[in-house]
Amino acid sequence: MKDLVKRLAEKKQQHRYRKRRISDSPQQIEMRIDGRDIVSFCSNDYLGFANHPKLKQAAINGIKQYGVGSGSAHLINGHSRAHHQLEDELAEFTGYPRALLFSTGYMANLGLCQALLDKNDYVFEDRLNHASLIDAGLISGARFQRYLHNDPASLQQKLSKVNNSTAEKLVLSDAVFSMDGDIARLPELARLCSETDCRLMIDDAHGFGVLGKNGRGSRLHFNLTTQEIPVYMATLGKAAGSAGAFIAGSEELIETLIQQARTYVYTTAMPPAIAEASRASLQLLQHEPQHRQKLNDNIQYFRQCCTQQKLPVEDSETAIQPLLIGDDKKATEISRRLFEAGFLVTAIRPPTVPEGTARLRITLSAKHCKNHIEQLIDTIIPLRLL
Ligand SMILES: *Cc1c(COP(=O)(O)O)cnc(C)c1O
Repeated sequence: MKDLVKRLAEKKQQHRYRKRRISDSPQQIEMRIDGRDIVSFCSNDYLGFANHPKLKQAAINGIKQYGVGSGSAHLINGHSRAHHQLEDELAEFTGYPRALLFSTGYMANLGLCQALLDKNDYVFEDRLNHASLIDAGLISGARFQRYLHNDPASLQQKLSKVNNSTAEKLVLSDAVFSMDGDIARLPELARLCSETDCRLMIDDAHGFGVLGKNGRGSRLHFNLTTQEIPVYMATLGKAAGSAGAFIAGSEELIETLIQQARTYVYTTAMPPAIAEASRASLQLLQHEPQHRQKLNDNIQYFRQCCTQQKLPVEDSETAIQPLLIGDDKKATEISRRLFEAGFLVTAIRPPTVPEGTARLRITLSAKHCKNHIEQLIDTIIPLRLL
C-alpha cells in the first residue's frame, strides 16, 4: 500500500500542496473568500456573466419548467427541449452544421478522443495543451506525440515520420493556451493538417465568448473555414458564465459521438436549467458587445500599466496575463501576500506548468475597473523583490 501521509508531507515540503478557499459570495469581481473581502483576478468568468441577472432568471425559469435534475442520460430520457435548442443555437452561433453538449469540457475532450481513436491511430498534441487534452490523448490508447509549443514546424517533423495512410491522425491544440494566454497559430496548423490529411481539433475554452465577431470563437478570429477546423470544442463555464461544454462539427462527427463517446453515453445530462442559462448567455453575446469591449479595454490598460512600471508582461493579447516568477515558493508567497492585501491571484506551479515557470496567473474581466488594475500592480511591484 502507498504511504499517503508521507506523500502528502512531501507535497507540503515542495510548496505544491493545494488547498481550497471557501467563498460565501457569487462568482464576481468583489468576493468574500475565507472570511475576507477581496478583489478577484483569477476567475475565467471573463465577461461577468456567471452572476448576470439574465442568466440567473433563465436558470430559475428553467427550473420552473423542467425541475432540477435531468434524471438520466441524453440517450434515455434526459435530453430536454432546452438541451436540444441550445445545441441548435450553438451550431448556428459557431457556424457548424451540428453541436453536441457534454457535462464538462474535460468529458468532451475524453469522449472525442475515445470515439475517434484506437491503438493503431496517432494523436499529436502541443506540449502546453490543457491537462484534459493530454489525458484524452493518453487514455485513447493511440500513439501519442507532443510537439513543441505553438510550433507548426515541430508538428510537421513529427507528422513526416508517419507513413500509414489509413490511420486516423488527430492534431489537438488549445486555441488560447490556458496558462500562458497566447493564441495558437491556427492558420498554419490548419494548412499543415489539410496537406497531410490530419484532422484538426481545437479546444476553445478560453476563446469562446471573447474572440471573433460577437465572441464566436477562435476559428472566426482567424476567419478559417469549418473544413479547416473540422472539430471545434468549447466550454460554457468560462466566458459564457454557465456550465458544461460542447463539440461542434459535421453531421457525421456528431452522430459518431452520440453513438460512441462513452463520456456522452454513460452520464447524466446536465440540468436543463443550466442549458437555459447558456441560451441566455448566447443572447447576451449577440446583443451586448459592450462586455467584450470593456474586457479588451482592460487588457490593453493592464499591459500598458505593466510596461510603464517595468513589470515584464508575456506575449498575450487575451484575458490571461501571466507574470512569470520562476520559483515555486516565491510564487506561493507572493500570492499569499496579495491575498492579505485583498487580491486573489493564484500561483500556478508545476505540474500544471513546466518546472521553473511558476507564475501568477492574472486574469482580467469586463467587470474590473481601472482602479482595481492600478491597485493590483502597485501591490505586486514591491512583492516581486521578496
Ligand atoms: C477549463 C478547461 C477545460 C475543461 O473544461 P471544464 O468544463 O472545466 O471541465 C478544457 N480545456 C481547457 C483549455 C480549459 O481551460
